[in-house]
Amino acid sequence: MARKFFVGGNWKCNGTSEEVKKIVSTLNDAQVPSSDVVEVVVSPPFVFLPLVKSTLRPDFHVAAQNCWVKKGGAFTGEISAEMLVNLDIPWVILGHSERRSLLNESNEFVGDKVAYALSRGLKVIACVGETLEQREAGSTVEVVAAQTKAIAACVSNWADVVLAYEPVWAIGTGKVASPAQAQEVHYELRKWLQENTSPEVAATTRIIYGGSVNGANCKELAAKPDVDGFLVGGASLKPEFIDIIKSAE
Ligand code: PGA
Repeated sequence: MARKFFVGGNWKCNGTSEEVKKIVSTLNDAQVPSSDVVEVVVSPPFVFLPLVKSTLRPDFHVAAQNCWVKKGGAFTGEISAEMLVNLDIPWVILGHSERRSLLNESNEFVGDKVAYALSRGLKVIACVGETLEQREAGSTVEVVAAQTKAIAACVSNWADVVLAYEPVWAIGTGKVASPAQAQEVHYELRKWLQENTSPEVAATTRIIYGGSVNGANCKELAAKPDVDGFLVGGASLKPEFIDIIKSAE
């Protein structure tokens, strides 16, 4: 079964409204493969979501970078899934390694967030990935399997989930995983889904790679059979994001 290529742009905590308008205008002017071939989702900081949502071309979609773990209320500083739904934001990124490491989000907490976001009708880009220490200790597969297990326990509908493999040592470092390294882990993740969910879920769930993807390395990574797209940080703020979208073809 064909898996539609998926390219996410994670803008992280970057940008002024002027810069955001410029990025949107570059995206809007770009010639890219049709939305039958590639699904493009950009994720600006919360405060720019309405601006991006209202000005971005209609064939691209918008994601939040996080949301709260349950119904909104007395949670100062948080943004609820209900609010995202209210603004018609279809996607949310959950479990990004920066939140796992800097804000101590555990596997279980990420799982609970995934469950709640899905229950509100959001689609989820769920992130997993090992640290350099874990890779060097030979525990990459074990680590990403444990992270995926906590997410899978909370997934009601896999059609609404994209799994992002983002090795922590490759994020923002310029040290991209080799195509073989990415393929190896994506293969293991798909095997995990096959054994623990269903063959259909394993065959249809997009597993995307993130970590120092750029215009120069995307083609080779995209050629790997289990790499179904990318989650792009730094390069998603630059015109080369267009080249990454084009690697779908
Ligand atoms: P990077 O970030 O492309 O800047 O390495 C990827 C991510 O954190 O999603």
